[in-house]
Amino acid sequence: MVLAVLGALECRSDEVQQPVPHSGEQQQQQHAHYTNGQHNPNFVVHDWESTESDNAVLDRMETVDEMMEFLWNGGSFHGSDIWQKPKPLYLVDDTPSRRVGFLLQFANSIAVETSDGLVVIDTGSFMTSNAIQQQLSAWSPSLPLHTAIWTHGHQDHVWGIDRWEAYNRDLLAGQRRQQHRGDHDMVDETTDTAQASDPDIGLSDSADEKQKLGKVRVVAHRAVLGRFARYRATRGYNTQINARQFEGEPEGIDIPADFRSPDLLYEHELTLTVGSETLHLFHDRGETDDATWVWLPRSRVLATGDFFIWYAPNAGNPQKVQRYAGEWSAALRKMAALKPRALLPGHGVPIVGEERVQQALLNTADYLEIIFNRTIELMNAGKDLDYIIHHVSVPARLSALPYLRPHYDETEFIVRNIWRLYGGWWDLNPAHLKPAPRQALGQELALLAGGYEHLAHLAHAPQYAHMIDVAPVWTNWQLERWSSRPSIRNRAWHSRVT
Ligand SMILES: [Zn+2]
Repeated sequence: MVLAVLGALECRSDEVQQPVPHSGEQQQQQHAHYTNGQHNPNFVVHDWESTESDNAVLDRMETVDEMMEFLWNGGSFHGSDIWQKPKPLYLVDDTPSRRVGFLLQFANSIAVETSDGLVVIDTGSFMTSNAIQQQLSAWSPSLPLHTAIWTHGHQDHVWGIDRWEAYNRDLLAGQRRQQHRGDHDMVDETTDTAQASDPDIGLSDSADEKQKLGKVRVVAHRAVLGRFARYRATRGYNTQINARQFEGEPEGIDIPADFRSPDLLYEHELTLTVGSETLHLFHDRGETDDATWVWLPRSRVLATGDFFIWYAPNAGNPQKVQRYAGEWSAALRKMAALKPRALLPGHGVPIVGEERVQQALLNTADYLEIIFNRTIELMNAGKDLDYIIHHVSVPARLSALPYLRPHYDETEFIVRNIWRLYGGWWDLNPAHLKPAPRQALGQELALLAGGYEHLAHLAHAPQYAHMIDVAPVWTNWQLERWSSRPSIRNRAWHSRVT
């Protein structure tokens, strides 16, 4: 459990899950979309929540290719851990000397073969990075890891470098040993040609030199350093977030504070040449302020990082730092302009084929842009936050798409995040600028309602059922009165948002 919590720390399972039921009209449109698409005989039209049959179908699938078709045509992996059952690497480019492999994991990894070694984009969480290293090394057994690129500093993307370096040292030492023996056989067998104190691998005793052998170069955007500093500074807070998400007690969660720093940082763009391969790295702000997306021009392959995750963009998460819906949308359009042949996401399965990739990128850009533009328009018109969150919506043609279903986020939360970025924390409600303590307010309300028990009763009365936010608000006041224990607050969070 602890491992599961830590593995998921920043990006996925720790984040808000708020299923939003579709209206009848939305469901009809959704149905029309799915049945108009390339139909998968395994796919049964239903609401976006995955069902037993979805999970069973996914469970039977042995390859990423099968999953790609199933999910593109409307199947859902919500509630199923599709990365739990290891799949063979999906070969995005099988051209000798520039093979590109995609490994489906909790957070995906992408490996590019070059004449100087592997380049791996994202190295996994500390729960998954061992398995990732083993599977990638088995796929390309003669190559060490030369360069790791982190698409951002979330904890499910940045672990395992130590393990790779140990693997590299063993691999390179073995290769040197083999070469040394080969050389040795070619000279007079009575002559000891070893020149170093370690005759097997031809290395000196220097610890530095041994350390250098196999060292991985880690490349990331410069803001990754700030993220790691923040993780160290807010370790307790992040522990609370995880306790809330996983309904555990904070004492049972131990969030690590030591991070491997990148070796090469960049600001806006970076072109990396590793042996025979060229990779273009671009920075834009989206889910994070330290995001990198990667373009492989020869293969025309795009690695999006978490700019694309097979869910509605996680652009307004209530418990997380600032996100950037407007810049995110623009970044997706930049990616689309490159006309990728394949999209490799930070989470979920690849999308292959130029037409599908264009659809995925541009529809997601539209989704964000609609929310962003309307929010800014209403802010400029002087509307307050309450008005805006209830007057911004996304057309069902977008929200019903298989890769834009609400899971970690939804429109209302994204609006709040845009408001925070451009408008600060005050929602323009005078009562919220310097409010009375909630406990005092709750006590007054309870008195007016005829006592706490009556208030509790009212909170669940049928006449208020249509006002979905009334009960939690009242319940919250009762909680303020009855308990301030974190465990109670955490349970309240869960009953509200999951
Ligand atoms: Zn992620």
